[in-house]
Amino acid sequence: MKRYVRFALLGALLLAIACGPGRFRTHDVGEVSRGGTQTQHHSVVLFIGDGMGIGIISIGKMYSEVSLGAELNMTELASSGTVGYVTTHSKTGPVTDSAASGTAIATGSKTANGVVGMTEDGDFLDNLFELAARQGIAVGVVTTTSVTDATPASFLAHVPAREMHPEIAEQIVESDAQIVMGGGYWYFLPPDSGMRDNGVNLVEIARQKGFDVVFDREGLESFRGERLLGLFARESMPFERSRLEQEIPSLGEMTEIALDVLRQDPDGFLLVVEGGRIDHAEHDNSISDALGELLAFDDAIGRAMQVQAEDSLITIVVTADHDCGGPGITGDEYGYPGYDDLESLVSEQCPIVQWISGYHIGTMVPVLASGPDHELFGGILDNTDINHRIRSILGL
Ligand SMILES: [Zn+2]
Repeated sequence: MKRYVRFALLGALLLAIACGPGRFRTHDVGEVSRGGTQTQHHSVVLFIGDGMGIGIISIGKMYSEVSLGAELNMTELASSGTVGYVTTHSKTGPVTDSAASGTAIATGSKTANGVVGMTEDGDFLDNLFELAARQGIAVGVVTTTSVTDATPASFLAHVPAREMHPEIAEQIVESDAQIVMGGGYWYFLPPDSGMRDNGVNLVEIARQKGFDVVFDREGLESFRGERLLGLFARESMPFERSRLEQEIPSLGEMTEIALDVLRQDPDGFLLVVEGGRIDHAEHDNSISDALGELLAFDDAIGRAMQVQAEDSLITIVVTADHDCGGPGITGDEYGYPGYDDLESLVSEQCPIVQWISGYHIGTMVPVLASGPDHELFGGILDNTDINHRIRSILGL
């Protein structure tokens, strides 16, 4: 868990060379990476696009290629790796919420909608962060929603109801995570600046636990410590178009800093990156915000791909917890839209997109993977299989 200095890494590298070459899937000393940075163990960056079904990916891909003249990073990632589909149903029924699907990915077990890190009967389920930390693997999570929200909480906490944000915040500061970044300072602070009415200031407790706690981009840029709790908004971070005017870091910036820190661990790492608000924009049936959030999420994927290019033992997995809204570009009685009409995707009124609903959809979602273990993610999987495959990569 320590942020090792270069000398320690050099020592580990020499030891790896002395122990002989060879690629091992788990915790034996494996090959030395191609680039300048040395890694001895397999690592995983898991991207979860909340609500990122094939509809919003298709729209984002079309808009990016036609209107921005650039391929999505996730398209490039899939081209060099593997594509699969993931079923997302929960214990409750065919349509999951983020708590049940987050728990399925984090723990490998199905649970009821609304439940975080537990069975529907209240039994605790070990999550990937807990299993990894027991083996000295560095873990962290970054999101655009509150860090106490259901998806990040599935890796950090165990509560019977996802609305228990204050209790989730308490469990976050007691967790093994080295990096936690997103919104939600409201749940960590007492009433003068937050909503905790039990007198407990979790920011102070987090500092006692070794976290640097920062609240804006300036604080983030000056961070030089070993553990980081970044809380950049009261609850969710703003949608991408209004974030750009504020001193709030992007998902890509947070991802890059998280990777910088976690990569220092010679035992490998697991970073979870959530594009948490694609879903929120889809609940509002706002295509411009959903597209903005998708592109911000894709930017974070691109930054991880740059790190992966230097570190051959990093597997990147991109998936979603569920579909939401089911947007699609479609025609009407006057005909089908042309490529010029794609510009309307970024306006308030977009006549070329129709939505199935303002709620989650029970369709399969894609999984894309690249890196040494990408082939594990082909075919039709269940969301619990994502957990099992990550465990096999990390040797958990
Ligand atoms: Zn949702």
